[in-house]
Amino acid sequence: MDDCIFCKIAQGKIPAKRLAEDAEMLAFPDIEPQAPVHVLVIPKQHVPSLHDVKDWGLVGRMHQMALRVARDRGIADSGFRVLINTGADGVQTVGHVHLHLLGGRPMSWPPG
Ligand code: AMP
Ligand code: ZN
Repeated sequence: MDDCIFCKIAQGKIPAKRLAEDAEMLAFPDIEPQAPVHVLVIPKQHVPSLHDVKDWGLVGRMHQMALRVARDRGIADSGFRVLINTGADGVQTVGHVHLHLLGGRPMSWPPG
């Protein structure tokens, strides 16, 4: 999609550090990190939100990539959180589905 910031990152039109990548998805650091490790995993194809997912296996593989990045960043054993913000109350601000990987500090519960 032409005006989608995450499509542009996937296509290399906006710079991002490519932490992990395969043919269908990409992991890169969040520009406003909320934890010592804050990484986003996106499909390279434009999918606006969880509502629009057709291939549910893709969502599983996004988790698999997040786990790989967690291991690479040394937070797999200490623990981490993965989440997909969806819609207004979920505070989804970018309309291209993305999985947040957060770690490197204890998370609070309930989330804000
Ligand atoms: P969400 O609120 O779940 O839609 O999260 C969107 C996330 O994208 C936020 O945490 C932003 O900090 C992050 N973000 C926005 N633009 C960029 C960018 N150019 N590079 C990396 N992360 C970004
Ligand atoms: Zn997009």
